[in-house]
Amino acid sequence: GLSHAHEADLVRTTCPYCGVGCQLRLHVKDGRIIKVTGVESAQPNQGRLCVKGRFGYDFIHSSERLTTPLIKENGEFREASWDEALNLVADKFMEIKEKYGADALAGISCARSTNEDSYNMQKLFRAVIGTNNIDHCARVCHAPTVAGLAQSFGSGAMTNSFADFSKAKMFFVIGSNMTEAHPVAATFVKNAVRKGADLILVDPRATALKDFASIHMPLKVGTDVALINGLMNVLITEGLYDKQYVQNCTRGFEGLQATVMDYTPERAAEITGLDPDLIRRAARRLASVKPAMLIYTLGITEHTCGVDNVMSTANLQMLLGNVGFECGGVNPLRGQNNVQGACDMGALPNVYPGYQKVDDVESRFKFQDFWDVLLDDKIGRMMPEMFNGLKDKSIRGLYIFGENVANTEPDISHVEHCLEMAEFLVVNDIFPNETTRFADVIFPATAWSEDEGTFTNSERRVSLVRKAVEAPGEARPNWWIFKEIAGRMGHQWDSNSGAEIWDNEISCLAPQMAGIKYSRIQNDGLQWPVPDLNHKGTPYLHKDGCFTCGLGNFKALEWAPPAEVADEKYPLVLSTGRRLYHYHTRTQTGRCQGLNDLLGKETADISIADARHLGISDGDRVRVVSRRGKVELTARVTPEVQQGMVWMAFHFREGCANWLTNQAYDPVSMTAEYKACAVRVEKLGCS
Ligand code: SF4
Repeated sequence: GLSHAHEADLVRTTCPYCGVGCQLRLHVKDGRIIKVTGVESAQPNQGRLCVKGRFGYDFIHSSERLTTPLIKENGEFREASWDEALNLVADKFMEIKEKYGADALAGISCARSTNEDSYNMQKLFRAVIGTNNIDHCARVCHAPTVAGLAQSFGSGAMTNSFADFSKAKMFFVIGSNMTEAHPVAATFVKNAVRKGADLILVDPRATALKDFASIHMPLKVGTDVALINGLMNVLITEGLYDKQYVQNCTRGFEGLQATVMDYTPERAAEITGLDPDLIRRAARRLASVKPAMLIYTLGITEHTCGVDNVMSTANLQMLLGNVGFECGGVNPLRGQNNVQGACDMGALPNVYPGYQKVDDVESRFKFQDFWDVLLDDKIGRMMPEMFNGLKDKSIRGLYIFGENVANTEPDISHVEHCLEMAEFLVVNDIFPNETTRFADVIFPATAWSEDEGTFTNSERRVSLVRKAVEAPGEARPNWWIFKEIAGRMGHQWDSNSGAEIWDNEISCLAPQMAGIKYSRIQNDGLQWPVPDLNHKGTPYLHKDGCFTCGLGNFKALEWAPPAEVADEKYPLVLSTGRRLYHYHTRTQTGRCQGLNDLLGKETADISIADARHLGISDGDRVRVVSRRGKVELTARVTPEVQQGMVWMAFHFREGCANWLTNQAYDPVSMTAEYKACAVRVEKLGCS
């Protein structure tokens, strides 16, 4: 029509924030996004959006964007051409490889960027540099999920779909503050409860979901294994478990039973601080509705016993016969928009794309043939081992792609010390941040909506991310940067767009993705596994209890306390997490005016009882001190937090919880215990 020139263009894409993967419509006018709306009746969000998806887009137009390659000289960054910066990186990587071997180089990929970017980065490290030293931030969140569920079920992914959240009749939510971290998913659960579904909530905090729960179990931080063992004790003792399912679909029940018998409700109550009758009541109620849906997030994984916690949730759901059915299963909510995808793409030190093991000969031959190179069969380093390697000089060159590790890793002082020790640090990013300060070369990358690609959400759905606007200055796609470095190291790669990388490489190599091509995901995406081009995708895994690994594996688990517990000097337990209005270290949301107006600073949340005892009022300035550091911030006195606990986020550099957190790791997944360390809180004088 006549007025058409004045109307905004509409571009469908996928939200750049959390792992729900909501479908958005970008309203683009004069080269700028001016508004975002939901895509009605699209999977998974049915048109719904949260505050981040709706208002968190203006960061891409920020004047602070990186627009040209930067090289550090005499401690100062200067602008450089792409050729100069790419040549420098390729030369330096080759020099390090020659002098110290390929394993002296390591890379950290990005769970925020597209699958195609992560694929090319792991390919650069494996096929060009020659090492499996590639990892990403799943290490700090859901690595225990990948490891734990793979042991229990044979596949380390969320079993069911967000569509089930509005249909399920019973929810068991443990360690998941969905309302803030996965807001749209939480709205479906709340709707289901309003329609009559039952919700049992396990969380040390009285989160917003408490108002929807028939039972809230405010257990002590880090006692999940004891609680779940206690619940299973009741289920077995009272004969409430699914005997037929256990017999037909699982192995290891006898071992589980022997261990669980020691966790009477009384003993579980002693460890968790809960009432034994509450544990009995919860177990009976849980068994009364079938199937029940178990949902968890980082309250389960970010512990030194993270893998055990994950396998405990799997034990519980197998005992109840709830895995392999619509509205059942074990459902870890993945945090970042593409952390599922970064794992699927093999940005992990032990697997190629599609979870094919690097130390499996057949897999290795397959990738050697496809990439036409020789590959190393040694499992690479995980992120904490990379940082330690910088310190002991076994890692000389580190490539960090889109991760602000100087703020996100536990114990900031330690991480920054390691980064300082790097002989050669390369960073791709869209903004200068706390991590880019340490770089020798910074590549300016395109952001979400400036390039095409795919994200894979928590429910394994591969969805398109479309280009809507031009990147600023000389910013280039991340996949292109990796391809250019590979080219300068003697490897010419053919694929020259997100579509080519996916269609011609990823979907040919990863069997789960074989049936996914760009032409098939123009509207709603597809949930892997999609084994062939006619397959419609897989809304839930392990159908009817037929597990990827054959029988499901029960694992008998003993409870162990967190690595650091409260004592006289540090009498409180700090637990950390996320808040609704911001996303991680705010490199994006911190540049969205609306979101900053909603929440502009960090607080330390403390209980009413502890506040009274310490003489602290809401809004007072306090100092929170751990064995590793101290921060000063504002106290928020709230009934949400139980006595003995402090709760903080890590969104703001000032007052960031990670100055305090403990880098004690789960021994299998090397995921740090962000959810528990010992602190004390001191009231500061009036300023
Ligand atoms: Fe984006 Fe997650 Fe919010 Fe959906 S729920 S709009 S994916 S941040």
